[in-house]
Amino acid sequence: MAKQFSVPRGTSDILPQNITRWRRLEETSRKFLETYGYREIRTPGFEETELFARSVGQTSDIVEKQMLNLSSRQEEGKAVPLSLRPEGTAAVVRSYIENNLDTTESLSKLYYIGPMYRGERPQKGRLRQFHQIGVEAIGPQRRAEDDPCLAYLDAEVIALSVNLLKAFGVKGFELKINTLGSAKDKEHFSKYLRDQLKSGLKKLPAEDQKRFSRNIFRILDSKNKEHRAMVSGLKLDGEQYLSQESREYFERVQKALRQLKIDFQVNPSLVRGLDYYTHTVFEISHAGLGAQDALGAGGRYDNLVGQLSGGKKEECGALGFALGIERILLTLPEEEKSQPFDAYVIAMDEESFPDAFGLLADLRRAEFRADMSYRVSSIKSQMRQANKAGGAGTGFVCIIGKEERQKGVVAVKNMETGEQQEIGRKSFVSDFKKLNKKG
Ligand code: AMP
Repeated sequence: MAKQFSVPRGTSDILPQNITRWRRLEETSRKFLETYGYREIRTPGFEETELFARSVGQTSDIVEKQMLNLSSRQEEGKAVPLSLRPEGTAAVVRSYIENNLDTTESLSKLYYIGPMYRGERPQKGRLRQFHQIGVEAIGPQRRAEDDPCLAYLDAEVIALSVNLLKAFGVKGFELKINTLGSAKDKEHFSKYLRDQLKSGLKKLPAEDQKRFSRNIFRILDSKNKEHRAMVSGLKLDGEQYLSQESREYFERVQKALRQLKIDFQVNPSLVRGLDYYTHTVFEISHAGLGAQDALGAGGRYDNLVGQLSGGKKEECGALGFALGIERILLTLPEEEKSQPFDAYVIAMDEESFPDAFGLLADLRRAEFRADMSYRVSSIKSQMRQANKAGGAGTGFVCIIGKEERQKGVVAVKNMETGEQQEIGRKSFVSDFKKLNKKG
């Protein structure tokens, strides 16, 4: 027998009965983000693989293990490797540079909502196709170390992610923040970690040694017990590796967050797995989610625009975050009731069908949510259909049979009260408007 297909592992269908919660999140996000001055950007679902390697980082888990690669296409005689996008920032920055957005505005506030792809081992809260709501504030042409006032933008972006979650109704989440300092500070930080961990690193398995020799920061957010023990005694208050300016900048971010009444914890071992972050980084977690507890994360990436433009664009301040929609939904109550119909039209016999069909069209033209069963059956079974179709909430059932046709009326039953009345067919829509209180 031919096989029956199922949804690819780590992906899922979003069925009509679940779509209300998705839409609510998307609509709330659009409204909310636009009041903060963000505008939507849509970039392709795939990009050149190299874009991700150069931004997210060759040594990040994402690029090392999780990229979903497409078979390369020949472009002008050359094979160009392509990958499904594992995250949104790289593509948004690519587009910002390519479309010279810096020449039309000094600060580009952009947001996206859409699917991302990572070839991870699926588990609860970890999918191969998942959806993110992301925000990127790119500009002005100054980095955090040149302009301490940018700290207010950091605070605003962090507050935005928190307030967005609150607007969705998410409760019980925690915000952790940290600073990595400037690119130079990061080098000092990396050296400091290597010096401090030298003897322990030598004892680790070859693979870990290799991993940490390429990116030492990854030991800080490793979940492995042995790694945790190695870093637990480290002094990570920044004194040894952060410049005075970077520390003051971070102080300012915290002060602005307090001003905005945003609760947070400073977590010195929060580094984030991606290469492009500098200065402020943050993560929002939810204890109810189990192992995959991050609802969202973000940070500042002041060197990415310069880096991805091949030096053609000036260095430019930038920061953003991404929230995972599936994980947010895991923290929210199950489905709300689907939206009921205003009217459900019933044809009592085949001869009444054209009239019933016409009535349905009139109702929809007047923007009522209306439907019918498209068949003739007993009134009882049609009522059952009406209840099913409208999520048990259909407002009115509009019945047309032989008797109604002869009298030129429609029998209308209020499903809530059970009351039934006849309404003249000619002025039906305007009378129905009054009845339905939509007019
Ligand atoms: P990241 O870019 O890994 O920091 O991801 C940002 C947010 O996207 C995370 O906090 C999650 O909410 C969500 N996310 C990342 N990877 C996955 C995944 N594989 N499955 C579901 N959600 C994810």
